[in-house]
Amino acid sequence: MINLKKPNEVSREKKQSISKLTPIPSENKATNKYMAWLQWEENSCRYDSFLTVFSLGLYGKFHEFDKTRADKRHKNHKAYLALCNIAKKLEEINSPAKRRHFVNEFSDYLYELKIDENRRGEMGCAQELLTLLLPLFHLQPFIEEEIRCDFCGFKEERRIRWPLPLKVHQFGSLQFNSIQKYFDWFVGSRSPDLCEVCFQKELRVVLKQTQIPNLIIVECINAGKMTISKQNKFEFNSTIISKSFQAEFELVATINQPCPYHFNCSILKPRNFDFQEKGESRFEWFLHDDIENEGSLVAFNNISELWDQNPIILFYARS
Ligand SMILES: [Zn+2]
Repeated sequence: MINLKKPNEVSREKKQSISKLTPIPSENKATNKYMAWLQWEENSCRYDSFLTVFSLGLYGKFHEFDKTRADKRHKNHKAYLALCNIAKKLEEINSPAKRRHFVNEFSDYLYELKIDENRRGEMGCAQELLTLLLPLFHLQPFIEEEIRCDFCGFKEERRIRWPLPLKVHQFGSLQFNSIQKYFDWFVGSRSPDLCEVCFQKELRVVLKQTQIPNLIIVECINAGKMTISKQNKFEFNSTIISKSFQAEFELVATINQPCPYHFNCSILKPRNFDFQEKGESRFEWFLHDDIENEGSLVAFNNISELWDQNPIILFYARS
């Protein structure tokens, strides 16, 4: 279940000992700039963006990420618990240097566990870190699909898990010119597809029965094309709607790839953030880039600023 409390209500319940992110004093020109969070060090951006999203945007905000909900049978279970512990630490401590130390430690730990193939300091992809979320089976409920070929009559039923992440590709095609359209196709009738029996493009995959997860993670496979929206006229959506499941999902966080070898992230109403109490409730979205703005979080109003950052991993929560 999604935490029904608003983020600012949750933060009010927090003990006073937990440091809060506060705006940089007014002598600084950028009033929408908040206290330094985490600064870049040797290709750390994929860790910095993933952990910032997890710590401030997901963990403690949505019950889906509670550590008790991770399944012990999954090989990444231990790593998931470590992820939860570091998310809590990052939020509680008040020093960017200490945060840097914990993130580095975590990166070394994942390399030891062989979850990350790249050593700290080496380049890698933020997308790989999503495997840390795989012990959350409730985000991957079973789907029953019926596969039918209209040409040769081949028919099969199969049971698979809801994909984490749901991978969106084929940006060039008109059929999938938005995340919403891709989603409609996925939960509707995926056709025509290639039949493996008669090799005709007459195969239809119909999603028969499924529970829809409360939190949907979408990955945009950009196949080397760096700016998805501009180059491919692709439309990102801040909400996705499922008519068949009578559900609406709101975008709550993204990991972005603003240029080929860099990642940053955006969060809607970051956890434990007292911006609303400072009379700045007009800001809802925050960008963290470990290279820009001295590693501070920067508030922004217009959602198009987010699309310009080229989101590649999008987190949608059921509203
Ligand atoms: Zn066939």
